[in-house]
Amino acid sequence: MTSNPTPPFVTRVPAANTPIVVAIDGPAASGKSSTAQWVAERLSFRHIDSGALYRAAAAAVLRSIRGSGDWSEDDVLRAARGITLTAARGAYVPILNGADLESDIRGSAVTHHVSRVAQMPRVRQWVNAMVREAAAGTSVVVDGRDIGTVVFPGAHLKVFLVADPWERARRRLTQRLGRSPTDPEIAEETERLVQRDSLDATQTVQAKDAVLIDTTYLTQEEQVERIVSLVKVLRPAL
Ligand code: C5P
Repeated sequence: MTSNPTPPFVTRVPAANTPIVVAIDGPAASGKSSTAQWVAERLSFRHIDSGALYRAAAAAVLRSIRGSGDWSEDDVLRAARGITLTAARGAYVPILNGADLESDIRGSAVTHHVSRVAQMPRVRQWVNAMVREAAAGTSVVVDGRDIGTVVFPGAHLKVFLVADPWERARRRLTQRLGRSPTDPEIAEETERLVQRDSLDATQTVQAKDAVLIDTTYLTQEEQVERIVSLVKVLRPAL
């Protein structure tokens, strides 16, 4: 028996002083991005939100070709050429030809079209390459759907976040509206989320070695604390 056994959730023990990759995956509105951002802040890692890149590609094509949304994969890739990931405020933010896309990418038009863009294989390759490049040489918390399975199958820690759809819808609306949503509002949002879950089902995969965290009854602080303490098992000096 060794005195220092590898914890069961660790995919690969990081060598001392080498960058750590934490992958956080899960369905829409499971709190991945805000949790990832917070975990990254606590550990002084960089946060990469892969969903923001799919959203940026959708925003770029919507800006360049207005109308029905009947564009091809080549149209999306052409429009996405102007997108770069720029380090800002401890995260990587997608920029289109020098302009911040944050307000566009969170809007309903982009949310409506993004799953279709994310089905395009060459768009997925483009996002994966951007994410891997941004992560090179630095410790990162990356969130998405397929980070622990496709983008970083060798991530040191993989977390899969789930929550009851009604609770996910309630949290999303509370954040968006700045007040408590009504039950009919939550019911409508739940329907939209479940629909997006089914469109994204192919790529939303829990890695075999991921730690599953159901956040339905957890506060955001508790989710963050759990993940931070798992990372600290990997590197106690953090
Ligand atoms: O995480 P978020 O909801 O912002 O992601 C937006 C969309 O991007 C998802 O609905 C999904 O279609 C796509 N996505 C993906 N793979 C990822 C991250 C996001 O397909 N790793």
